[in-house]
Amino acid sequence: MPTLPCAGSHGLRADQQPDWADPLQLQRATEELERRPALVRQEDVDTLRHQLAEAAAGRALLLQGGHCAETFGSLPEMERTVGTLEGMTEVLSRVAGLPVITVGRVAGQYAKPRSRPTEVRDGVSLPVYRGDAVNGAGFTARERSPDPERLLRAYDESAAALHRIGRGGEKAACYSSHEALLLDYENALMRTDPRTNRTMAGSAHMLWIGERTRHVDRAHVQLAQRVNNPFAVKVGPSATADDLLELIARINPEHAPGKLTLITRLGADRINEILPRLVEKVRLCGAPVLWVCDPMHGNTRVTGAVKTRLVSDVMAEIGSFIEIHQQLGTHPGGLHLEITGNAVTECVGGAAGVREENLSENYTSACDPRLNRDQALEVASAAADRWAL
Ligand code: PEP
Ligand code: MN
Repeated sequence: MPTLPCAGSHGLRADQQPDWADPLQLQRATEELERRPALVRQEDVDTLRHQLAEAAAGRALLLQGGHCAETFGSLPEMERTVGTLEGMTEVLSRVAGLPVITVGRVAGQYAKPRSRPTEVRDGVSLPVYRGDAVNGAGFTARERSPDPERLLRAYDESAAALHRIGRGGEKAACYSSHEALLLDYENALMRTDPRTNRTMAGSAHMLWIGERTRHVDRAHVQLAQRVNNPFAVKVGPSATADDLLELIARINPEHAPGKLTLITRLGADRINEILPRLVEKVRLCGAPVLWVCDPMHGNTRVTGAVKTRLVSDVMAEIGSFIEIHQQLGTHPGGLHLEITGNAVTECVGGAAGVREENLSENYTSACDPRLNRDQALEVASAAADRWAL
């Protein structure tokens, strides 16, 4: 299908963008991306949107999961992660008794929003690691320098991953998703079909904007508004119900089903205080919203030099999420998790008993701590039991 690349961000403020050193190199990379085919097909995006509309109506669940930050050259780990998602999907659909839509945080999750622009070690200050699509994790000036060539590598790696998970052509497997963070990349991969005038983000089936980039008057929300892909927004403890109503008015003014997912990440100790009033007010506005629980990002703890999360906190937030929605008569529509198919030791707890003192044994995440395969299956199984109640 002939599709046309789209114009940029219309001068709106864009948060969390890299300081690309060489504008000409950036231009060359984005022009190259504009010439390449979209990574996903409009018909798959439409099917996913239809399925998410079913979930918003209470007839299905969304299971979205994968790495906090994917790294280049990790296809075998990505495949194990997708295998774990399949196991979780099986247990959730069987026990909860609802169809499950499986969406990986895979095949494009290469860019990270950060709390600070620089990192200081032993008195040396360098740009922070922003994901493999931007710079390298190693603490050297060369690695940390944002390199536009990496945008092309992100495309190549995404294409290879989609091929492996069966979305490169034939039917199977899960959909792809990532945080729509890098506007240079996302804009270069947007495609408008001249026959229908519909614009699709060509980088993944589903995208989300994070807690740090959901300001309504800025470029990321405008991106969510422009494309017909299903789009999610992360909702942290500082969000007010009015913020959510404004986001709905911007991203889905016509209340189209399947367009908008709200992923709450409030923390096990705050969800009971915050979630009910958000849900009640959004329900009153009548927009079809899919509510999903991310029980990871509100429950991060720092022990020594590393970040971790407790499986017990993860389970507690999921339990409260399901209970609150059931009490209010809304649908607890699914889970958004950071997991890997590898036997890492990044989160504490679970039946295999990863303890704080084990964290250094196999901590390989490029960013946040993920549930390992056993912990992920255990969380899926406990959540399924709660849904079945
Ligand atoms: C993430 O999903 O890795 C992330 C940074 O989340 P949030 O925007 O919710 O903090
Ligand atoms: Mn994360």
